[in-house]
Amino acid sequence: MNKKCIYCKVEILQESVIDFCSRCGIGVWGEKMFNAIVKNMEEARSKGDLVSTNLVDNFREHNSS
Ligand SMILES: [Zn+2]
Repeated sequence: MNKKCIYCKVEILQESVIDFCSRCGIGVWGEKMFNAIVKNMEEARSKGDLVSTNLVDNFREHNSS
């Protein structure tokens, strides 16, 4: 199932951190703001990935000891 832009329904990348296409995002926030939002979302996601990886590692350690 492909992800779609919430505004114009165009298909967007599944791994995209945002729920809309860049064209709509720029239309709504302007290019500068849109790029800042995408950057923040990507940073938040990569931090979230790190956090969940750490949690899994902690869980494994507790169980093995
Ligand atoms: Zn769109």
